[in-house]
Amino acid sequence: MAIAFWINLAFLLAVVFFVWGLRLLSSPDTARKGNILAAAGMGLAILATLTMPMEGASNNYAWILGGMAVGGAIGWVASRKVAMTAMPQMVSIFNGLGGATAVVLAMVELMNLYNGDSHMEGGQLAISLAALVIGAVTFTGSMLAYLKLDGKVKDKHVTLPYHQALNILMLIATLALTVWVYLQGSGAGTNLALGLMVLSLVYGFSFVAPIGGADMPVVISLLNSFSGLSAAAAGFIYGSQVMIVGGILVGAAGTILTVLMCEAMNRSLLNVLIGGFGGGGSAAAQGDQTVREVSLTDAAIMLYYAQSVVFVPGYGLAVAQAQKVLKEVDDLLSANGVDVKYGIHPVAGRMPGHMNVLLAEADVPYPKLLDLDEANEALKSADVAVIVGANDVVNPSAETDPGSPIYGMPVLRVWEAKNVIVLKRSMNPGYAGIQNPLFFMDNTRMLFGDAKKTLTELATELKNM
Ligand code: NDP
Repeated sequence: MAIAFWINLAFLLAVVFFVWGLRLLSSPDTARKGNILAAAGMGLAILATLTMPMEGASNNYAWILGGMAVGGAIGWVASRKVAMTAMPQMVSIFNGLGGATAVVLAMVELMNLYNGDSHMEGGQLAISLAALVIGAVTFTGSMLAYLKLDGKVKDKHVTLPYHQALNILMLIATLALTVWVYLQGSGAGTNLALGLMVLSLVYGFSFVAPIGGADMPVVISLLNSFSGLSAAAAGFIYGSQVMIVGGILVGAAGTILTVLMCEAMNRSLLNVLIGGFGGGGSAAAQGDQTVREVSLTDAAIMLYYAQSVVFVPGYGLAVAQAQKVLKEVDDLLSANGVDVKYGIHPVAGRMPGHMNVLLAEADVPYPKLLDLDEANEALKSADVAVIVGANDVVNPSAETDPGSPIYGMPVLRVWEAKNVIVLKRSMNPGYAGIQNPLFFMDNTRMLFGDAKKTLTELATELKNM
């Protein structure tokens, strides 16, 4: 049978693997299998592409295999070494590199056109320019998102006065130049295309610069969807169905996630893009208010004799890697008849689904995880709410202080529980950089220390009761 048949069959299978893999990713129980399946689909697609006969051209195997070996080795080492807490940064880098690839592919095709080595017109030229612009915006935007997530760049360091107005002007200029380059057809020349690339790269950086604090999750999912769209556009350039489907799957998943994140933050996308939540934010002064601490023994007694306890995990749980010992505390309390639940905020941690992943790793049964609305209902009658390394997602200023950078973001109303115990190491603020009035409330008690250490000691206390 003709080789083309087998290649097309391999592409079809790859697409089935992508879709099936994505389906399995929707539950923590099957997510690992889904990831392996999707990776196998990608492997198959690469293999099929490499065996495609090239008319009148060589396959350049040495270059391709060399590139794959270098890229594969870097990816392998990076994924093995990356800490769980740095996963969001890694995802941002991957998004960015997807965008950069689209830029390179589009630039090569455009240069071929301008040098008279190929023909491209109408839709294909438009798609190449789209791949160039979206890819470039994704690349620099994702790199800046990585630097911000990693704490290497602070919002105030990259934000200029009237930055949003500047961004709108830059967006208009980028779109106008794209149309101009398109209208010039093959006469535009490489320099103009390079100019468009540079402008898009600068715009990508500038577009993410003023967005910070609580808006970062939305931007990250948006960049994720851009990376898919740029891959799909590159797929159109080469008429590669598998690249188009793969790209569209990522683009659609990223878009759905962006919509969900906007809903979770109670914001419209436009509002996020033209700014609203402040970046760094100023820590609201708490005057000379003091916080009250609780001893380990008293905390253990409070939990042991409670009827219902709601744990609220946040980024600190990931930093401390305390999920397994948290589950141990849960087991000890549940064995004593305490009703234990977990309140999961959609943007807790540093990536969508971060808490679900951590708790699934510790085998916390899924039905114990309550979403924002369910948790807020449960908190009304809870005896104790235990905050494990969360901060912004339990900050009452989001409801009470119109001047707060996170005002309007739905939060877990932990203060409605009879007692609140906060596990954290210091009075340092969370990601949004703002102080949290929860810590000064009458029913709040602080239990300072690394969450893993504190929970281990709590487990020991509970075992001795
Ligand atoms: P926060 O970043 O608001 O707070 C985390 C808290 O954990 C800190 O106050 C810190 O206090 C504490 N902590 C850190 N390490 C430890 C440790 N080892 N033991 C105990 N406590 C520790 O986290 P939240 O989860 O509440 O909120 C997430 C924030 O991140 C939101 O602002 C969200 O918008 C943003 N974000 C979310 C993304 C997502 O997709 N989920 C992506 C990007 C940003 P201390 O140092 O005193 O211990």
